[in-house]
Amino acid sequence: MSLRFVILGGGPAGHQAATYAARLGAKVTVIERDVFGGAAHLWDCIPSKTMIATGGAISFAHRIEGMGLGHAEAAVDTEALTARISRIQDDLSHDVVELLSSQNVRMIKGSGRFTGTHTVLVDGPEGPEEIEFDAALISTGSRPRIPDWCDPDGIRILTTRDCYPPKLFPKSITVVGSGVTGVEFVHMFSSFGADVTLVVSRQHVLPGKDPEVAGVLEDDFVERGVKLLKGARAESIELNDDGDGVIVKCDDGRVVRSTHAVLAIGSVPNTEAIGLEAAGVEFDSGGYIPINHHCVTNLPHIYAAGDVSGKLPLSSVATMQGRKVAEHVTGLHTIEHRHVDYDKAASAIFTEPEIADVGLAEAEAFASGRKIRVTKVPFSSSAKALINNDPRGFVKIISDPATGVVLGGSIVGRHAAELISVLALAVTANLRVNDIVESLLVHPALSGALADAAE
Ligand SMILES: Cc1cc2nc3c(=O)[nH]c(=O)nc-3n(C[C@H](O)[C@H](O)[C@H](O)COP(=O)(O)OP(=O)(O)OC[C@H]3O[C@@H](n4cnc5c(N)ncnc54)[C@H](O)[C@@H]3O)c2cc1C
Repeated sequence: MSLRFVILGGGPAGHQAATYAARLGAKVTVIERDVFGGAAHLWDCIPSKTMIATGGAISFAHRIEGMGLGHAEAAVDTEALTARISRIQDDLSHDVVELLSSQNVRMIKGSGRFTGTHTVLVDGPEGPEEIEFDAALISTGSRPRIPDWCDPDGIRILTTRDCYPPKLFPKSITVVGSGVTGVEFVHMFSSFGADVTLVVSRQHVLPGKDPEVAGVLEDDFVERGVKLLKGARAESIELNDDGDGVIVKCDDGRVVRSTHAVLAIGSVPNTEAIGLEAAGVEFDSGGYIPINHHCVTNLPHIYAAGDVSGKLPLSSVATMQGRKVAEHVTGLHTIEHRHVDYDKAASAIFTEPEIADVGLAEAEAFASGRKIRVTKVPFSSSAKALINNDPRGFVKIISDPATGVVLGGSIVGRHAAELISVLALAVTANLRVNDIVESLLVHPALSGALADAAE
């Protein structure tokens, strides 16, 4: 009899595990309460990047004057943008459903929770159903963190999920939180013409990232007129007396007034109402589920993947974990298996310029005393960047001075999120800088800067 594998949550981790495990012979059921494709499609990656792409087109219209063309103004059509976001979400979710059905995965729409070590109860539109399983995956994702000093109303005091569809663009907005999500929202709202203030708790945006990279982004923000409130922690957000604006108070006494405010201060895992205690699955004080390198929890037949695992909160990582779970649960890992190497995950920040990195960071290497070779080339020396009228940013490659093996790198500039793939492949496959130098790349192309930086 086939292994009965039940998955709670049909986001990137869940649907990847489902399709692959089914292909490898398991009898799979996925329980999803909202949309197959997950929060990634409904709230996070897809709508935010769609809005950012439209904002990027507006910025591009501003830049075309330098390309031998006259002045162009792009006006936002809110209805068309809303329709575009929904269309992309629907198409992607439809693809996920098609893929799951093509592998005979049973999909149940509803909320699931464990009722024992081998049973899940689904509370769906067709009434409750108890399902027995041999193995299960918890991939219920996460939601925005809301601190106790703030009560979002979804109209003026927003979480990231209240920003789509864009019913009305704010005239002015205060973004609280200067991590990846915060800076992407600053970029997005300022592209659409809002007056933006960013509350930055440290001295630089993007804590933990290369300060040189953060510096380029801050320069862009200042050029756009974004106000950076550095060294300040928001401690309250309230509606003003007229109810037509918000007041953000910081711990150093500074006060910001704007028509809207958005919280971008991280997320919390969706693990509190899924019967972890009934199943006997352990979780930490933050609600995250500890896993081993096979994504196995404290119970050998229950896995956790994606945001609930408390590893890197990225769709790409969730997908890879889902794949590894499928290999392990069906026994394929005994033949061929590579663990998820979180240190080698590429990531990108969809600002302007884009920022992407992978592997070892310069600061990290210095902190650990590891000897590295750092080479850097600015895009201002790239023919294609000049042709694109966008010479901002640089490519930085970190390699081992003895062997030439590529250990990491960062790219700041146009299409950085695409270009980083070359360095991600090099880092994963232990390629040497010479392998990049000796690749016959296209000219003129931004990838030429990668070859130059590898020299
Ligand atoms: C604003 C924003 C932008 C982002 N942009 C990017 C990006 O550009 N690139 C990137 O790699 N990452 C991005 N991320 C992160 C990415 O969205 C997450 O890491 C990813 O969605 C995690 O996938 P997951 O499978 O763990 O869960 P999710 O995508 O959160 O899916 C979990 C699913 O489980 C369902 N669920 C929950 N509880 C139950 C239950 N009891 N029963 C049934 N179903 C349940 C939920 O409805 C949901 O559909 C972004 C995050 C945010 C907040």
